[in-house]
Amino acid sequence: MPVRWQGKLQTGEEWVPGVDPSFHAEENILRNPNLKDWDFIEGGTSRPVCARDEKCGQAIQNSGMQLGGPPFKGRHRQGTDSNMFWRWERR
Ligand SMILES: [Zn+2]
Repeated sequence: MPVRWQGKLQTGEEWVPGVDPSFHAEENILRNPNLKDWDFIEGGTSRPVCARDEKCGQAIQNSGMQLGGPPFKGRHRQGTDSNMFWRWERR
């Protein structure tokens, strides 16, 4: 864990190190074999997701989620205009 984050996690938050330096952030979480028991239902990033159908976008789709949310209008625009993703639950 980066030193600047030590002691700053909130209850229920967990530091998870990346598994592959070639992976982007979303890939490192969603493709992490140590998290295979986690059930990902939603996520958000500080920058738009890099791609819809490859890299992080593919990892999001493979986790059963989809990109969405209001179009990202901040700095660091890249790839898609989405920085939110979630899973629709059927009832
Ligand atoms: Zn990416």
